[in-house]
Amino acid sequence: MQLLFADQLGPHFDLGGEILLPEVLTQFSKRRYHRQKAHLILFALRSRALDPRVNLVQVDSYRDLAGFGVTNAVSPTSRPLLNLAQSLHLKLEPARGFCSSREDWAKSRGKGYLLETFYRNQRKRLNLLMDGDTPQGEQWNFDHDNRKPVPKAGLGLPHFEVVETDLDAQVRATLDELERSGKAKFIGSDGPRKFAGTRDEALAALAHFIEHQLALFGPYEDAIHDQEWVLAHSMLSAPLNLGLLDPLEVVSAAQEAYLRGEAPIASVEGFIRQIIGWRDYVWHLYWDFEDDYLESNALNATNDIPSWFAELEHGSVKARCISHALKSVDGNAWAHHIQRLMILGNFGLQRGINPKDLNDWFIDAFVDGTPWVMPANVIGMSLYADGGRMSTKPYAAGGSYIDKMSNLCGGCPYDPKVRVGPTACPMTAGYWNFLHRNEIKLRGNPRMNQVFAGLRKLSDRELLVAQEADRETF
Ligand SMILES: Cc1cc2nc3c(=O)[nH]c(=O)nc-3n(C[C@H](O)[C@H](O)[C@H](O)COP(=O)(O)OP(=O)(O)OC[C@H]3O[C@@H](n4cnc5c(N)ncnc54)[C@H](O)[C@@H]3O)c2cc1C
Repeated sequence: MQLLFADQLGPHFDLGGEILLPEVLTQFSKRRYHRQKAHLILFALRSRALDPRVNLVQVDSYRDLAGFGVTNAVSPTSRPLLNLAQSLHLKLEPARGFCSSREDWAKSRGKGYLLETFYRNQRKRLNLLMDGDTPQGEQWNFDHDNRKPVPKAGLGLPHFEVVETDLDAQVRATLDELERSGKAKFIGSDGPRKFAGTRDEALAALAHFIEHQLALFGPYEDAIHDQEWVLAHSMLSAPLNLGLLDPLEVVSAAQEAYLRGEAPIASVEGFIRQIIGWRDYVWHLYWDFEDDYLESNALNATNDIPSWFAELEHGSVKARCISHALKSVDGNAWAHHIQRLMILGNFGLQRGINPKDLNDWFIDAFVDGTPWVMPANVIGMSLYADGGRMSTKPYAAGGSYIDKMSNLCGGCPYDPKVRVGPTACPMTAGYWNFLHRNEIKLRGNPRMNQVFAGLRKLSDRELLVAQEADRETF
């Protein structure tokens, strides 16, 4: 009998025989998950169990599976589950759910860990947006056409919406009971389920994105708008990470829309790069980087996550960019990439938050959070805690970047141009304070020369450093 893990719910993980699907409710007692994340996982598991070949069993721990007669599985996506599968002596099929195997990665990644090298080789190998060896549109990358700030009125695109079923009500009752009995304590608000949790819903979400949003994905990929939480993003990370969609079917659908003339190359290339490039890249880095990557702390960041941040208390935060991102996480267990990287991650970098703590918080708070996706995104890309193994310089930015890419600074009591004083923007002051704190560690990096030259010219550096040392409100 096949042991099916909770992120292997689509047809491409089905080996054809009888299936054992464990539901481990005690997971929710061990860590503080977002309520909507717990809901989506339980809903997806119980929906998959409607297939008569699937036996859903409630166990306290995966370790209890020894007596159930499981013999085989598709290789799981994390080291702890791989150890478990080995301890159960399961025959393991190679991992699925990505666009490249470990062998493809070894051949395609080149000498270092440069995303661009891997991505171009993926495009060629998978023959996506290619004319022979030449990229369609004669460019590999259309970033200069993209990265547009959002129009004042927003994009006004409809995003995919779930229609809840009786199973959602059943799941909600289970979670209410776990909370009532004190067996679980969640973060975040409950609310209607937002993300696809069945194969049919996942296909509908994909079709919706291709029809309504893909065309504008590229230009507004990096934009933030105070009235729109989704913009032109696909909302597909959760169904992809649950294994409900095969990433190759997702990129094929995007390519077909381009070939039908329904979406421009800049958008389609940008979207395909996220999936065959970034998503596969962070997956392979999870396996390439050793276990103790999670302990990396090159910038010696030891601060705790502030409780208002961890608990998503967005109403107590005056800085609109931070409040707005936390509000999206509170209400949806999701925020889009630029909010994750340039607001929440950037906040963690600027404020010296312990990398492993922030990594775990992201896993628990985000509907699409998994152990394999987070280390490269948080420890590497957001916090530079790996000392540059995956990014050539820290993704640190001040308020002016946020002002350029969003409409949030206008109504904010802080001014992105002000560094010191009551209206000093915490993201701007935090940026300079970050450079001050890490000057010795980072000044050997030639890509940082210009910013350190700027730091040395600051007339109010001492005042700024003292102000940020005392900062309690954001
Ligand atoms: C700090 C931080 C935390 C993140 N946490 C997660 C996470 O928990 N789960 C997750 O799947 N992605 C994560 N990402 C990557 C990315 O932000 C999300 O995949 C994306 O925001 C999900 O929304 P979407 O499906 O609408 O994506 P879109 O903007 O529509 O992008 C399309 C797809 O590309 C893939 N993708 C794009 N960038 C990445 C990336 N850096 N890593 C992995 N996949 C990527 C996703 O599958 C996504 O669905 C994180 C990034 C950062 C910087």
